[in-house]
Amino acid sequence: MAFVIVLAHPLILFIEDPAQLALLNLITAPWRARLGVTAVLALIIMVVISIWRQPLKIHYDEWRIWHGILATAVVALALGHIILVGHYVAVPWKQVLWIGYSIFWVGLLAYVRVFRPWMILRRPYLVEEVRPERGNAWTVSLRPEGHAGLTFQPGQFAWLTLRSSPFADREHPFSFSSSAVRTERLEFTIKARGDFTQQIQTVRPGERAYLDGPHGAFTPDRHDHAAGFIFIAGGVGITPMMSMLRTLADRQEQRPLILVYANQDWEGLTFREEIEALRSQLDLSVVYVLEKPPAGWEGETGFVNADILQRHLPRLDKRNAYEAFICGPQPMMDAVERALVGLGMNMGDIHTERFDLV
Ligand SMILES: Cc1cc2nc3c(=O)[nH]c(=O)nc-3n(C[C@H](O)[C@H](O)[C@H](O)COP(=O)(O)OP(=O)(O)OC[C@H]3O[C@@H](n4cnc5c(N)ncnc54)[C@H](O)[C@@H]3O)c2cc1C
Repeated sequence: MAFVIVLAHPLILFIEDPAQLALLNLITAPWRARLGVTAVLALIIMVVISIWRQPLKIHYDEWRIWHGILATAVVALALGHIILVGHYVAVPWKQVLWIGYSIFWVGLLAYVRVFRPWMILRRPYLVEEVRPERGNAWTVSLRPEGHAGLTFQPGQFAWLTLRSSPFADREHPFSFSSSAVRTERLEFTIKARGDFTQQIQTVRPGERAYLDGPHGAFTPDRHDHAAGFIFIAGGVGITPMMSMLRTLADRQEQRPLILVYANQDWEGLTFREEIEALRSQLDLSVVYVLEKPPAGWEGETGFVNADILQRHLPRLDKRNAYEAFICGPQPMMDAVERALVGLGMNMGDIHTERFDLV
């Protein structure tokens, strides 16, 4: 909406007085127009590379740097434009408002890039263990070094920095996979996908790590009223669910839980043995959905769809008192969200965690 309003304001100007189109010529236009036009161009580039980063084949780390540069440029150029145009800063209270607004953004930038990394640097963690898991994933265990660590709600995530400084802006987000009750040892389970995640298997105990978190609202702890929970995970999307299941088991949860866990094959089902063991501690039913099932498999196959959900979720009148959590590959999440709504669940009771931020 903000983008549309920003684009609409010069268009209205040009419709009202076509002679103003001359302002688009950056060579002859006055500075107020040069700054305004450049701010809009920077904003357009920022929106385009954010929505279409993957088809444009822009590497995430490069995108992130450009996103920061463009966002800062948009604010600075737009402020210059506002000051030079003068309409909105003609009276003192408006000047105070705009200067205050700019100070807020510069302050926020300083907080995020300087103060927060400095705070994170003062609270290091030590890698205690790195263990392989099914599904080409590794679990990294961290112990706070000389401080109390942090508390989190199951399902939340933190930004992890390894082999680098918090100032280097090279952190990656990962959901906690350990129980929120056992904060003396924080665990993340990471699937090897790209540059950073491939390195995890080479990390050794004793290496230093930094955490920025917890973040996120993807947690059953915000839904105490729920009659039960439905967890739908695909592949490594099981990590936040695992934290939820482990936490609920530690808290001796009595409410019914349903886990629908989709994966390519049986052998690659991360945490399979522990999930099976948790059945005896929790009122937990588990439905595995395999794309390539082993010979003799009698369970669900293919992709999670409305038919499979209909077969395993409670009846509609009961289902509506449940809260559903979905985490997995993007196409699966879109399909499952649509299926749940089609099965009569309220959008407000469906919660998602998307691992592909951009
Ligand atoms: C809230 C959240 C929770 C996540 N939890 C887990 C988890 O528990 N386990 C797990 O294995 N993965 C998790 N991920 C995904 C994980 O962050 C990315 O797979 C990882 O950052 C990829 O980095 P890479 O350099 O290995 O891969 P690349 O090959 O560089 O990138 C693969 C894709 O990952 C994304 N990505 C890359 N770098 C970053 C970055 N610095 N920050 C954010 N996204 C990035 C991009 O969409 C990119 O296309 C989570 C992501 C989010 C947003």
